[in-house]
Amino acid sequence: MTSVMRGITTWKKCWYSITGYPYNLDFDYGALSQLQHFSINNLGDPFIESNYGVHSRQFEVGVLDWFARLWELEKNEYWGYITNCGTEGNLHGILVGREVFPDGILYASRESHYSVFKAARMYRMECEKVDTLISGEIDCEDFKAKLLCHKDKPAIINVNIGTTVKGAVDDLDLVIQTLENLGFTHDRFYIHCDGALFGLMMPFVKRAPKVSFKKPIGSVSVSGHKFVGCPMPCGVQITRLGHINALSRNVEYLASRDATIMGSRNGHAPIFLWYTLNRKGYRGFQKEVQKCLRNAHYLKGRLRDTGIGAMLNELSSTVVFERPHDEEFVRKWQLACQGNIAHVVVMPNITIDKLDDFLNELIEQRAGWYKDGKLQSPCVASDIGKENCLCVLHK
Ligand SMILES: *Cc1c(COP(=O)(O)O)cnc(C)c1O
Repeated sequence: MTSVMRGITTWKKCWYSITGYPYNLDFDYGALSQLQHFSINNLGDPFIESNYGVHSRQFEVGVLDWFARLWELEKNEYWGYITNCGTEGNLHGILVGREVFPDGILYASRESHYSVFKAARMYRMECEKVDTLISGEIDCEDFKAKLLCHKDKPAIINVNIGTTVKGAVDDLDLVIQTLENLGFTHDRFYIHCDGALFGLMMPFVKRAPKVSFKKPIGSVSVSGHKFVGCPMPCGVQITRLGHINALSRNVEYLASRDATIMGSRNGHAPIFLWYTLNRKGYRGFQKEVQKCLRNAHYLKGRLRDTGIGAMLNELSSTVVFERPHDEEFVRKWQLACQGNIAHVVVMPNITIDKLDDFLNELIEQRAGWYKDGKLQSPCVASDIGKENCLCVLHK
C-alpha cells in the first residue's frame, strides 16, 4: 500500500505539469466512483446482447450514436465500438479495408502513427510510405506517383487527422481528388481516417475541412483518453455497417458476433465517455478547443519572441520547437522529442499560468546552455522549415 501511495504522490506531480503527450487531464469523475465495485465487460458486438449480464452496451451505443452524428453517418448505416485505444481503432479500420480489398495496397504518409505500420506487418500487407510536406501533411504529388506504381490494385489509405508529432491534418479532399483523377472509382479505394487526437477537435475549429461519411471514407477512429479525457485508455471506432457484415462471423459461445479486435472489452470506459459527452456537449467541446488553440498560439508566439524556432500548424494545438538541450529538463516537463524537435500538445488542462512557468524555466536554463558560445541551439530548418527556424544560420 505504501508503494501505491508513493505512486500517487509522483503522479500528482506529473499531473500538474505541462506535457508533450496529448492527454486531457482536466476531469472529475467522482460521481462514478461506485463503478469500481463491478467488473463491467462488453465482450463481443455492442449491438448484439451477449449472455453476460454486467455490461454497459446501452452507454456504449449512446457514445457511438454521438460520434456517428458528429461524422454524419445515419444510425442504421453505421457500426462501431469502444476500443481500448486509438491504436486498436487503426488496427480495426485497416483490417476492414483489407477485408474489403484483400489485394489492396496500404498507403500511409511517413509521419503516420507507428500503429499504422504495425497493422501492415500484422496483416502482411504491402505498404507504400508516402512523403510529407514540411507541415507534416501527406504530399499528394508523391501519393500520386506511388499510386501510379500500383494502378491495377485497389488502394487502402490511412489519412491523418492530426499527426502525432506535428499535429498536421492531411488534406482529405485532395487525397480523394488524387484518387479520382487517376481513375480510382469509389469501389476501388478505402480510406481510414486516424483521428486519434484531432478527430474530436477539428469538428469544432472554424473553417476547418470536414471529416464526414458523406465523403467516400470507410472508417474514422479517435482516442477517448486524449481530448475527451478519461481515467483509462480507450477509443472510438466508427465504420459503415455494410463493411462489417462482410467481415464478421457468429460465435455460439458468446451468443454474439465477432467483429471486434479484442474479445473482452472495458465496460467502464463507455460510461466515462458518455458522462463527459453529456456534461460538455458540442458547446463545451467547442469552447475547450478554442481555448486550446488560443493558448497554443500564445506558446508559439512567446517561444519565437525569445528566439526559439517554433511551428504551429493552422488547425492544430501542437507546438513544435527546438529540442531543449538538457534531458533532465525534457523529462521534468514530459516533453515528447524526435531528433532535433520537441513538442507540447496544448490540452484543456494546460493554462497560461502553466505555460508561463514552463517558458520562464526554459528561457532561464537555455541562457545557461548556450551562454559561452561553445554550444549552439540546434537547426530545425529540415524539420519545420527555414522560415520557422531561428538558429544562427536562419535567424
Ligand atoms: C496517439 C495516437 C495514436 C494511438 O493512440 P493510442 O490511444 O495511444 O493507442 C494513433 N494515431 C495518432 C495520430 C496518435 O496521435
